[in-house]
Amino acid sequence: MSKTDAKELKEKLFNTKKNGWEHLSDEELKNIFQFADEYMYYLNNSKTEKEIVKSSKEILLKNGFIDISERENLKPGDKVFFVNKDRALYSAVIGEDNLEEGLKIVAAHADSPRIDLKQNPLYEDSELGMLKTHYYGGLKKYQWTNIPLSMHGTIVKPDGEKITICIGEKEEDPIFTISDLLPHLAGAQMDRKLKEGVQGEELNILAGSIPYDTEEVTERVKLNILKLLNDKYGIKEIDFTSSEIEFVPAFKAKSLGFDYSMVAGYGQDDKVCCYTALRAMLNIDKPRKTAVCVLIDKEEIGFEGVTGMYSRMFEIFIHELLEKTGNTSVSGLDKTFSNSKAISADVDGAYDPNFAYAFEKNNTSYLGKGMAIVKYTGARGKSGASEAPAEFVAEIRRIFDKANAKYQSCELGRVDKGGGGTIALTLANRGIEVLDVGVPVMGMHSPYEITSKFDIYQAYKGYHEFLKS
Ligand code: MN
Ligand code: MN
Repeated sequence: MSKTDAKELKEKLFNTKKNGWEHLSDEELKNIFQFADEYMYYLNNSKTEKEIVKSSKEILLKNGFIDISERENLKPGDKVFFVNKDRALYSAVIGEDNLEEGLKIVAAHADSPRIDLKQNPLYEDSELGMLKTHYYGGLKKYQWTNIPLSMHGTIVKPDGEKITICIGEKEEDPIFTISDLLPHLAGAQMDRKLKEGVQGEELNILAGSIPYDTEEVTERVKLNILKLLNDKYGIKEIDFTSSEIEFVPAFKAKSLGFDYSMVAGYGQDDKVCCYTALRAMLNIDKPRKTAVCVLIDKEEIGFEGVTGMYSRMFEIFIHELLEKTGNTSVSGLDKTFSNSKAISADVDGAYDPNFAYAFEKNNTSYLGKGMAIVKYTGARGKSGASEAPAEFVAEIRRIFDKANAKYQSCELGRVDKGGGGTIALTLANRGIEVLDVGVPVMGMHSPYEITSKFDIYQAYKGYHEFLKS
């Protein structure tokens, strides 16, 4: 065999994971960078699940979707959405086929790891105002100290008045931070295991230092903070009882690298899939199967709760779609689910050259090589995995190839090094065929996660083709 024959044969037979940036047309490059700019704008305006739901709803409204409660009947081409308690958003474009013949679903999660306030947060220590917290999701606690944090959330009073708070995002706003110990005095701390380097009860937020101007009472810094909050929002300390306050990194999403090829930003797990899935819904007009996009809450803490993916609120939305398209049989919902297909749109851990030992090079995802197809997640012998059947993976490959949307086949890290789960299993349990497909992320669950602009655009193309075909 000649040298050229062998070269051709290798090209034909090997699955070489190519760098996606090579040989791109000017138009494709333009699309990739423009899409990333729009994505970064979305990221900067929606850091929490409630903000994601709000800004996504605005995007849907601008693109012809209406609240499902406004329609009595639905026909092919109709575009509707349903907001579940301001924290989860389901949208649909009605298809030509009867719904019982199955849906096409792309589901991503809108919540991200962060620092939540406890319900009795405010205290004073050595004339500093401090806030007690309980972290949300799996994070490396030491990464969250001495970085600017912004405060987002709601306080609801017993009379129903709802106060929305966002401090630290505008240029003129103050920020907050959790202080770490100076290295000069950290001898004992440095001997702790990294996991315990900063402990849960040490994640206290610095929130003020001016005492209320009187000699008459104690805890005057705390009093001054409560006075400021009372003047601005009309709240008292007890109102924290019915509050949800989240502290997230205050920094903005930015292009990363000399070549601007990557995005650095907070909460890309899984807002990168929220945005690409949502955008994929916008230009679908009359699909064959009804297209459904789910932006769900509570993924990071186990899918539970009324706004999580285990909640029957999803069934209630699909039920309403069935009823309004004239499907009233008792078994309609189960039949619909058993004929449905879904992409669990969640991020994968990208190979990090700084920590090569944690990855298995043949089966990890790389930045810039396309979407990560993850046939199974789980840990220690695929435990807890929802493994997609080979037949379904093949079908997804065919769809992605049609759209020229690049993908790589991966699993999270080395065998027995750890692992993780996604909402895939909550869909599979309902009888829906499902595969995990998402964007590779470096530094996942850190305050500043990294993605490739190339991969982001591939996810958009892939989800769009899946939903419309
Ligand atoms: Mn995720
Ligand atoms: Mn996560």
